[in-house]
Amino acid sequence: MCKLCDEGKPQNHDDEGKPEDHSGSRRDFLKTATAAGAAAAAINLFATRPARAHDDDHGGPPEDHGKDRRRYVIRGGSVMTMDPSMPNKGELLNTDVLIEGKKILHVGQNIVAGDAAEIDARGKIVMPGFIDTHHHQFETALRSFLADGVLIKDGSTSASGTTTYFEYILLTFAPVYRPQDVYINELFGGLSQLDDGVTTVHDVSQIHHSPQHSDAAIQALFDTGRRAAFGYFESAGANILGTNPGNQYPQDAVRIKKQWFSSSDQLVHMIMGGEVYLGDATTEQSWTIGRQLDLQIAAHILSPFGIRPIMDALAQGQGGSNKDIGIGGDNLFIHMTGMSDMAWQKVQDVGAQVSIAFPIEMNMRHGMPPIIRMQSMAAAAKKPFEPSLSTDVECTMTADFFSQMRAAMNLQRLVVNQMILNSPNGNQNLPDPRNWELPQSAMTVPGPFPYWPTPPAGIPDPLTTRDVLRYATINGAKALKLDKKTGTLTPGKEADIIILDPTRINVAPLNQVPGAVVSLMDRTNVETVIVAGKIRKWKGQLLDIDLRQLRRKLENSRDYIFSKAGVPQNLFSGQ
Ligand SMILES: [Zn+2]
Repeated sequence: MCKLCDEGKPQNHDDEGKPEDHSGSRRDFLKTATAAGAAAAAINLFATRPARAHDDDHGGPPEDHGKDRRRYVIRGGSVMTMDPSMPNKGELLNTDVLIEGKKILHVGQNIVAGDAAEIDARGKIVMPGFIDTHHHQFETALRSFLADGVLIKDGSTSASGTTTYFEYILLTFAPVYRPQDVYINELFGGLSQLDDGVTTVHDVSQIHHSPQHSDAAIQALFDTGRRAAFGYFESAGANILGTNPGNQYPQDAVRIKKQWFSSSDQLVHMIMGGEVYLGDATTEQSWTIGRQLDLQIAAHILSPFGIRPIMDALAQGQGGSNKDIGIGGDNLFIHMTGMSDMAWQKVQDVGAQVSIAFPIEMNMRHGMPPIIRMQSMAAAAKKPFEPSLSTDVECTMTADFFSQMRAAMNLQRLVVNQMILNSPNGNQNLPDPRNWELPQSAMTVPGPFPYWPTPPAGIPDPLTTRDVLRYATINGAKALKLDKKTGTLTPGKEADIIILDPTRINVAPLNQVPGAVVSLMDRTNVETVIVAGKIRKWKGQLLDIDLRQLRRKLENSRDYIFSKAGVPQNLFSGQ
């Protein structure tokens, strides 16, 4: 009992960062890990929070949530199932969601649920958790270091073009990571996204200097307790410098798959990294191994690293050192900026997945996020061709998903709106590329608003809030081949659910549900987060973590990484 807690001001009852130890029971999700990495074994960052005694005082989460056959019901929310085959296209007022064990059992009104525990969601929004299809969680300790930088040194003296991603993050910082750095970076970044309502991630770990590094990354994904695709990528930076004698990429994929991913009934699964900028020999090897292991194959595809001709070869089935590697429905392509018409057509034809990192591509000079192209190709083919969303790197930009949705919607609308305004000018009188606005001699249209043309055919509709919500949920599930398990609140799927609070000062009053989520919310509105039936965030607080201890470990890792890399820490560094 605690006076402040009783007054509704929950206190963190740890002492000088020591984990609480009220119950002695280990967290369930730790038990799901099939092997303990050396890095993980030494660290206990999960406060065993008091279970019932404390929770009962505050109206804690339903007892035994997520456990086999245990039921609870989320009552009376505005439910966006994101499943258009459900009644009213899956948008349901005053609706209950019944959960049993890790699955959604039923979605409907006034569900009779016997003595199932109840979560009151009246006045709240209930929807699937967000899905991030490309995130380099190992870089969490470098957050905001590269807030101004672009991808590669560009020969200028600008702040953006001198301290850059390739030279600093990949060539300077990444090579010095130890397994324990990988572990805490991955864990902290994952928990941070759980707090934000992102219940699934594809972690492009790219930090596999040794099998111990790989095991630490995987262990952290299991320990985070959210759904994840472990992306087994290269030994970034060190691979180029040759400072990684323990490097076992890509052939260690065989051991990793066998050791960690022999079951499909677990929260974490595996994707093969098939980076094509590493050279044709590596492409040949990684794609071949990935396909032998029946894994999805993911790769960064963007023009700045010289990938356009490589992608053309892959699209023609002539990639790799034997010129026999082609793309297929098992591919997940990240960015897809600056690729040829031919390559794009092949991507669409084979049904490969595309992940767009809108804010990062806009910021770091990847090229125009290819949303207009995808919409135009979808219109031509008369079938959907849509991206999922990805956060990429927090050294430059937040991994918050509300920012993702807003950036996607606003970038697309910027382009489309300007296309419409410029449409009366045809191709005869284009705007000045220095300002992208109307040309000085802009044509006008009849009617009361001479600079307000009716949108002509051939220009995509502006994206809506429902569009980007779809990108952020079910499209992400499809991109990771998880759409049978998650991405919508369809009965039978696993319960990856977020409850959002629109009564807070940044959102109230609630007038339109999709609009409130996309246009107004941030992580302070993420009240409850559920992964496979297990409640991970409750009433605005992540459960079962010791943030002070976690942060201290991350800061220690940060200090080591900067010191070893020879980069001075400077909170007002002028880049
Ligand atoms: Zn990336």
